[in-house]
Amino acid sequence: MKNTSEPIVQIRGLTKSFGNHVVLDGIDFDIEPKQVVVVIGPSGSGKSTFLRCCNGLEQPDGGTIDICGHRLCDHGTLLDDRALNTLRAEVGMVFQSFNLFPHLSVLHNITVGPRMLRGMSKEEAEAAALSLLQKVGLAHKAHVMPASLSGGQKQRVAIARALAMQPRVMLFDEPTSALDPELVGEVLQVMKVLAEEGMTMVVVTHEMGFAKEVADVVVVMDGGKIVEAGPPSEIFSAPSQPRTRSFLQAVL
Ligand code: ADP
Ligand code: MG
Repeated sequence: MKNTSEPIVQIRGLTKSFGNHVVLDGIDFDIEPKQVVVVIGPSGSGKSTFLRCCNGLEQPDGGTIDICGHRLCDHGTLLDDRALNTLRAEVGMVFQSFNLFPHLSVLHNITVGPRMLRGMSKEEAEAAALSLLQKVGLAHKAHVMPASLSGGQKQRVAIARALAMQPRVMLFDEPTSALDPELVGEVLQVMKVLAEEGMTMVVVTHEMGFAKEVADVVVVMDGGKIVEAGPPSEIFSAPSQPRTRSFLQAVL
């Protein structure tokens, strides 16, 4: 563990059902500053729903979520929209399917959030966006449209766009699952650099190499519960839970 002070994210008793299907069944978890948490688990175990609850995209049924000391969700009730938007700016999210705005240039995709939600001037937002594009190796693509980019490039733009809001924590939901295999590495490399720079990150991924190399903590979800959590050395070499063992056998 790199650092332990006030948790950036504190979750207690988080529950969520769709109809009578319990998808999150009492999640307790803390994410410490600069921690890289990798979440693994079988399809349908609630990983995406967990991330979506952490930035208010999904309304939990019960439990509390505190982000940077602010209560995002109090016993299942979300903040009002205004407070929610402010808080969401602290939580960057990167999706499997990139979700870039197709009608906006790469640069404009990155500047729209800071200009509308952070009140940045056009010049300031563009300067920041260009430096982020440089960071993800795409400064030369600032003025093209997303459709002309490869999947790996789109995802790197999506990461730059999330970073432009200066979030305190970044959530990644299977960021490389939609990519051709030869494009996975360039996205993981950008994420690895972010982790090395001290970004607090929660990453849902099936990339076990990334988990082993970069994660401080690996969280195993199954059936809406955290069945096991620990450093990668422990989870991969000596998992204590049968459900972790069977999941790892299937993916490794
Ligand atoms: P994972 O990301 O681990 O694959 P999800 O969080 O996406 O799991 O989904 C967990 C379960 O919740 C799945 O059975 C899924 O079908 C269900 N689910 C997710 N979102 C919805 C929704 N909006 N409406 C109904 N069921 C949903
Ligand atoms: Mg998912």
